[in-house]
Amino acid sequence: MCVNESQRPSKISDIKIHYVNDTLAYRKGNDVYLHEDLKNYPELFRSILKHEFEHDNKTFSLKDFFHDWKSGLPKEELKAFRRAHRDVALRMMLPINRFGVNYNLFVIYGLLVALVYLTMRSVLWIGLNLV
Ligand SMILES: [Zn+2]
Repeated sequence: MCVNESQRPSKISDIKIHYVNDTLAYRKGNDVYLHEDLKNYPELFRSILKHEFEHDNKTFSLKDFFHDWKSGLPKEELKAFRRAHRDVALRMMLPINRFGVNYNLFVIYGLLVALVYLTMRSVLWIGLNLV
């Protein structure tokens, strides 16, 4: 069966790595952007590259969304990297960055806002019905 270009999984050898200093890792198509200091964290480097490769090429998909939850990244090296690059760790929490929109974060923040709203509404409803 013929699949179109965007559905075809790329080979790891198709991935082109670019080193940057303002994000941990980001994949756009076959371009993977990795923080230059990751070279000093070999286990984290390998895990992140594998993680980015396993992302599919779509803008947003559930598979991609859940892929970010099972990180499997080496915890000690990740902690050490975050300690050394707090600015990068903070920037990764922004839903929009120079690469574009992080749809996963938009979904998570949306769910949080909905949760806060529903909790407030329930509290208000209980409060009003107790008087
Ligand atoms: Zn990811």
